[in-house]
Amino acid sequence: LVVLDHVDKHYGDLHVLQDINLEIKRGEVVVVIGPSGSGKSTLCRTINRLETIDSGTITLDGKELPAEGKGLAKLRAEVGMVFQSFNLFAHKTILQNVTLGPMKVRKLKKSEAEAEAKKLLDRVGVGAQAAKYPAQLSGGQQQRVAIARALAMRPQVMLFDEPTSALDPEMVKEVLDVMVSLAKEGMTMIVVTHEMGFARVAADRVVFMADGQIVESNTPNEFFDNPKSERAKDFLGKIL
Ligand code: ATP
Ligand code: MG
Repeated sequence: LVVLDHVDKHYGDLHVLQDINLEIKRGEVVVVIGPSGSGKSTLCRTINRLETIDSGTITLDGKELPAEGKGLAKLRAEVGMVFQSFNLFAHKTILQNVTLGPMKVRKLKKSEAEAEAKKLLDRVGVGAQAAKYPAQLSGGQQQRVAIARALAMRPQVMLFDEPTSALDPEMVKEVLDVMVSLAKEGMTMIVVTHEMGFARVAADRVVFMADGQIVESNTPNEFFDNPKSERAKDFLGKIL
């Protein structure tokens, strides 16, 4: 569904993505881990063209990603993105946060958008908060709203960049539970996270990045129990 073929990117002298080749099949859940600065966020951001690439191609469902214009808006709708900071619109209610995109991009009527949004908010367990504003919700609740907002665009793939790392420990599980259920329902997901429990339970594959390169790509059990490279061993030794 998502194919990166010989993707390279530089920030000045820094070769932040080096010949990245990665194929994510429909329904596959790929967890990306690696040291700070290894290029994980940059990788995510290139997939929905928040960042340009220098060479190589990225395709979604066989189509090369448009760099700008109308095609780009459509692409952004097909690639849902959830960040570490929740990025909700502070001056809109929870319900409005979720209905805005579908009304604008999918051209839904307000009533249709609201009906869908309520279902999604129920599904992530925050239906009762629909009339509130983001600041009135806990971090875990806000992050679940951010997931509902991305899902409201009916994306083909969901990207998560460290979605739980800004949360208090007791709120991590409620967000991971939503992500696990999405994975089980067959959503295609790329998840940057250091939550090894999530990787073990939900990932089909773990991709280990270091210094802008994909160093290992393996099933979670194989990766965690039997890492091949010194860099992966060293990294796992620090976090496990
Ligand atoms: P972390 O685990 O800390 O989130 P990461 O793996 O997500 O790290 P990136 O954010 O992708 O790493 O950054 C990779 C490298 O690119 C880092 O060295 C970073 O300083 C650099 N970098 C990121 N964004 C920019 C930018 N806009 N301009 C210049 N350098 C950048
Ligand atoms: Mg990052």
